[in-house]
Amino acid sequence: MTDILKNFAKVNLCHQPTPLEEMPRLTEALSGPRLFVKRDDCTGLASGGNKTRKLEFLIADALSVGADTLVTYGAVQSNHVRQTAAAACKIGLNCHVILERRVLHKGQRYEETSNILLNHMFGTTIEFREAGLDITAEALALTNSLKFQGKHPYLIPGGGSNKIGSLGYVSCAQELLLQIKNQRLNVQSVIVATGSFGTQAGLTAGFSALGCDIPIIGISVRRKREEQIENVYKLSLETSQLLGTKPIKRNQVLVYDNYIGEGYAIPNKGTMDAIEILAKKEGILLDPVYTGKAMAGLIDLINTDAINANGDVVFIHTGGSVALFAYEDELRQKIL
Ligand SMILES: *Cc1c(COP(=O)(O)O)cnc(C)c1O
Repeated sequence: MTDILKNFAKVNLCHQPTPLEEMPRLTEALSGPRLFVKRDDCTGLASGGNKTRKLEFLIADALSVGADTLVTYGAVQSNHVRQTAAAACKIGLNCHVILERRVLHKGQRYEETSNILLNHMFGTTIEFREAGLDITAEALALTNSLKFQGKHPYLIPGGGSNKIGSLGYVSCAQELLLQIKNQRLNVQSVIVATGSFGTQAGLTAGFSALGCDIPIIGISVRRKREEQIENVYKLSLETSQLLGTKPIKRNQVLVYDNYIGEGYAIPNKGTMDAIEILAKKEGILLDPVYTGKAMAGLIDLINTDAINANGDVVFIHTGGSVALFAYEDELRQKIL
């Protein structure tokens, strides 16, 4: 296979290829199709996760324009912010972040533990904002104020989700296809959590560029189906333009929105059940914000026969288990 990314600059942050592993005990418990997991929770940087692949391309772009400071933003327990903070340390850049209090009623500890604790360890400069503000505008204002101070800031959008960041998931698509071929799998669908769209957009653009028509099914963790489809579609179109390959069609973008529960970063029973079964059957840690919901979706799609036993299924594990410790109360209730 020729490398469709060979003309794009990237820095090295990531353990790759990440393993593609079978989950035989989960398969047996669900009596569904053979289930596999793509371990992008094992990308290696500071507990890993999907943002690291995106940062390889984003930081290469930042360096190419002479940046000395990364600026980014996210929810309080953002995994993207933690991975950006760690990447900044590894490359030797400063890092300023804005955290949005998007999740209400979580108490003081939520702003001190897990990803936040690690952000402090990486020496990141952190500012908090209340929910409801235009967080992108806040980040732009911060970027401009750093410029006035004589710094060279580079603004990375939330979740690292623009066409440059999406290249990280084109690279994952490429890697995954090779593994599917080498392991002789017959894959009927790929399941992934979808939030700021870059992961699903990159995978969709990547598969399309490689002539692979295996459907990528996004499980939304925040937005309604129509809105999420539109967002993923637009970004995958931009990504395929950047790659110089043929445009994505809207009907290539598949999203379910019925596993969100009460809202972003609020786990429900399905989320907690999914976290528990993956721990008990496979020794795999999911997270309460993204992968727990995506796995709840996969389990339900199998139970309702929307996904049948004809063909293997790949679940992309996008990371996030660091945030488990910010949800100790919910976990204790579930498992003790
Ligand atoms: C950010 C994130 C996602 C969602 O990826 P997007 O590219 O934002 O859609 C999924 N899982 C985890 C653990 C994440 O941190």
